[in-house]
Amino acid sequence: MRHAGAMADGSWYDADIDHVIISEEQIREKIAELAKQVSADHADAEGGILLVCVLKGAVMFMADFARALGHHGPSTEMEFMAVSSYGQGTTTSGVVRILKDLDRDITGRHVVVVEDIVDSGLTLSWLMKYLQSRSAASVEVVALFRKPDAVKVQVPVKYVGFDIPNEFVVGYGLDFAERYRELPYVGVLRPEVYARS
Ligand code: 5GP
Repeated sequence: MRHAGAMADGSWYDADIDHVIISEEQIREKIAELAKQVSADHADAEGGILLVCVLKGAVMFMADFARALGHHGPSTEMEFMAVSSYGQGTTTSGVVRILKDLDRDITGRHVVVVEDIVDSGLTLSWLMKYLQSRSAASVEVVALFRKPDAVKVQVPVKYVGFDIPNEFVVGYGLDFAERYRELPYVGVLRPEVYARS
């Protein structure tokens, strides 16, 4: 069992976390802003917005973002894809594989890809090409987090929540070896966590 402690503001934190980068409250506020922006830009989108969530990392963001869009409109539908570009560790394999494809035809739809984090941009550039090849009317990306290397690749991420430092982060859907996804904030693990795994 992992140990827990209390942060300065009284909220809970996981003892495996070295430091918190983005708090639960910051995430909540940012998602409200992003939803307002995306909904305004898609006010006239015929057929509403088709949200495409990239599992598993974006699952928390998808749920909160879709709910936030619900305050504004237009109507949204949800699709889920699973691709893999990372293994069990913290380095990219450079290979993108479809683990779960879309369940429907997206021809003529206004797609918004809901991504957790853009790091090398490899996954996203592959995904954009894939969705465009399926004749969507438009494909935009909303990414909650972006790392510095993302600027090196030409991936048009229209909506970005937070630019974060070039560190491996966990929480709010992001895992290390399938753990820590449930943390409501995003943080960096203590070095000894890697040593013991
Ligand atoms: P990219 O292809 O942009 O390098 O990485 C895309 C995927 O790698 C993200 O969707 C995410 O699942 C994973 N990833 C990238 N950086 C991190 C990180 O700092 N922490 C975790 N847990 N996953 C990451």
